[in-house]
Amino acid sequence: MSRRLQAPRGTFDVLGDAAQARAELERVARQILERAGYERAETPVFEATELFARGVGASTDIVQKEMYSFDDGGGRSLTLRPEGTAPICRAYIEHGMHKRPQPVKLWYMGPFFRAEAPQAGRYRQFAQIGAEAIGSDDPAVDAESILLLAELLEAVGARETRLRISSLGTPAMRAAYREELAAYLRAHEHELSAEVRGRIELNPLRAFDADHPGTRRVMDAAPRLLDRLSPEDVEHFGAVRELLDAAGLAYEIDTTLVRGLDYYTRTVFEFTSDALGAQSGVGGGGRYDGLVEQIGGPPTPGMGWAAGVERILLASPPRPTAPPPVDLYVAYAKAELRHQAFVLAADARRAGWAAQVELGGRSLKGQLKAAGRAGARYVAILGDEGMSLKDMESGEQRVVPPDTVIHHLKNGFA
Ligand code: AMP
Repeated sequence: MSRRLQAPRGTFDVLGDAAQARAELERVARQILERAGYERAETPVFEATELFARGVGASTDIVQKEMYSFDDGGGRSLTLRPEGTAPICRAYIEHGMHKRPQPVKLWYMGPFFRAEAPQAGRYRQFAQIGAEAIGSDDPAVDAESILLLAELLEAVGARETRLRISSLGTPAMRAAYREELAAYLRAHEHELSAEVRGRIELNPLRAFDADHPGTRRVMDAAPRLLDRLSPEDVEHFGAVRELLDAAGLAYEIDTTLVRGLDYYTRTVFEFTSDALGAQSGVGGGGRYDGLVEQIGGPPTPGMGWAAGVERILLASPPRPTAPPPVDLYVAYAKAELRHQAFVLAADARRAGWAAQVELGGRSLKGQLKAAGRAGARYVAILGDEGMSLKDMESGEQRVVPPDTVIHHLKNGFA
C-alpha cells in the first residue's frame, strides 16, 4: 500500500466553513478598498530572489533565514514571495505606473511563504490582504491607509484590537540613529541577551523587541528614534496624527515599534489583537519612500500595509454561513431518463438558477433524500409518466411539462 501523505508542516487545507469565511473576508476587503479607489492587483507567487534580498533589506529577519529560494534550473535564483510590497513596487516600475495620476492605489490578497517555525497563528504558507498607495508623500495617504485597515478589522468584528503608530524618520537620520543605538548597546553589551548581542551591528533596532529582562532594562533607557526626527519628519508625523484624530481613530504612540521589514521610512503602524496568543500581530505597515528607487525605479514615495488573513479570522467571531441555495434538484426514475435530467439541470443553470442533478447513481428514493439534504426548493422527478415538480416547502406536487420548469422556479405554481 502507498504511504498516506499529509500537507507539509506549517501549511493547511481550507475547507467548508473556513473556505466560506475567507471568501466573506475577501468580499468585505474588496468592498472597503475599492470604495477608496484601490484597484485589485495580482503578482506572481515567485520572483527573482534579488527583489527580496536587496542591499538594504538584506539584514531583515525574513531575508536572513525565512525565504524559500530555489534554482529555476537555469542558474537563476527564484524565491516564493515572503511579502507583497516589493512585488507591487516591481510591478509599478515594470508597467510605468509613475505616468498615471499619483498615488496609484493597489490591493491584493494571496498566499505568502516564510520558512518560520510553525505555531498557532504562524504558518509557512499563509494569506495576506494588502493595500499599497504609491507616488505621494502626503500625510493623508498614511492616515487613510491606516484607517482602511481599521475599517476592515471593524467590519469583520476583530476583537480587542489595538493600534500602535510611530515614525522612523528618513533613511539618513535613521542610519545616524542606528549608529548611536549600536554604540549604546555596545556600551551595555554584558547586560544583553546573546541573541541581541549578536545582532548589534546587523539590526540594533530589533533589541526593542526582546523579552530578555536584562535587555529590556537596557532598552528602557535607550535613545529613542522619535526624539531624533528631523523637523520635516516631526511635521509629517504630526499631520498623520491630526488626521487620525479627526477621523476619531484611537492609537498609541509606541516609540519602540519596529517592523520586520526594514525598508520603512517615516510612518509605521501595527494592529494587534489581545484575543490572539503570542502571535498577536494582525496587520501593519508603513511608509517606504526609498523602496521603489532601491529596486530600480525613479525616486517614488509609497505607503501600505499587509494583514494576515488567518490572524484576522482567528481574532474575529465566526459568522454564521448559510449553505449555498439549491433552487432545483433533478431526480430521475430510471437510467434511460438520465440524459433528459442532465440537460434539464444544465438549462436551469444557464437560466441563472442553482440546479443539481443526481451524480451518484442512487435509487429514486436515495435521490429524493439527497435533494432534501441539499435543501432544494424544488425537485423535478422524471418518470415514465412525464415529469412532476415538487415544491419542497409546501409539499405540493404537480405534473408539468419539462419546458415549464424555469417558469415555475420563477413564479411557483401560481
Ligand atoms: P509582515 O509582512 O511581517 O508585516 O506581516 C503582516 C501580517 O501578516 C502580520 O501582522 C500577520 O498577521 C501576518 N503574518 C506574517 N507572517 C505570518 C505567518 N508566518 N503566518 C501567519 N500570518 C503571518
